[in-house]
Amino acid sequence: MMDIMQLSEDTYRIDDDRVRFFVLEGTDKAIMIDSSMNNPNAIEGARKVTDKPLEIVNTHADRDHIAGNGAFEKMYMSPAEQPVYRENGGKGIIIPVKEGDIIDLGNRPLEVIDIPGHTPGSIALLDINNRVLYSGDTVQSGIIFMFGKHRNMDTFIESLKKLEKMSDRFDLIYPSHDRCPVKPDIIPKLIEGAEQVRAGKTEGREMDLFGNKVVMYRFEYAGFFCEP
Ligand SMILES: [Zn+2]
Repeated sequence: MMDIMQLSEDTYRIDDDRVRFFVLEGTDKAIMIDSSMNNPNAIEGARKVTDKPLEIVNTHADRDHIAGNGAFEKMYMSPAEQPVYRENGGKGIIIPVKEGDIIDLGNRPLEVIDIPGHTPGSIALLDINNRVLYSGDTVQSGIIFMFGKHRNMDTFIESLKKLEKMSDRFDLIYPSHDRCPVKPDIIPKLIEGAEQVRAGKTEGREMDLFGNKVVMYRFEYAGFFCEP
């Protein structure tokens, strides 16, 4: 079930099961950031809040972010994410976006920031004028999936460090899972946790997650599911 909440005059979050996507409006057009886990009709949620021309950008192509992509012919995405998108059954034409590109909704520029690690083509979007960062799964207070084929803890940590360096450009972070918003001060905590995990300095707990054997590292502010 799609649960629509207005965050500001021209910004909405739509929560669907354990993930959320966003609808942002500018003066010329609107955009969906991701398209839900279970909802091929996610676009109908967006249509309830905007009648502007509607585009879509994906923070990454894990299955819980692309269910409603089929309603679009074209989607903005990092070209590095294409293999993940196709593996997960994603269709349509990818409009490649990379570091520093601007998607302008009309008086509302969104800056693309490459943040590989969670997936090879993960991106964040900086809503420059509103000082909000849309972080996908990379920055969040939930347990971040870092097991399986496309994950890379080293590049994940580098991406977090890059976001930390530019954190004077945003006041709030809107992630795809768990609490929303979170504050930028979660970023150094995630870096510390991820570095502890990488160095084997913290105790995890083996468990079964949807049929995958994983190790869960739980910190006070967030956590990681990693390869055993
Ligand atoms: Zn996700």
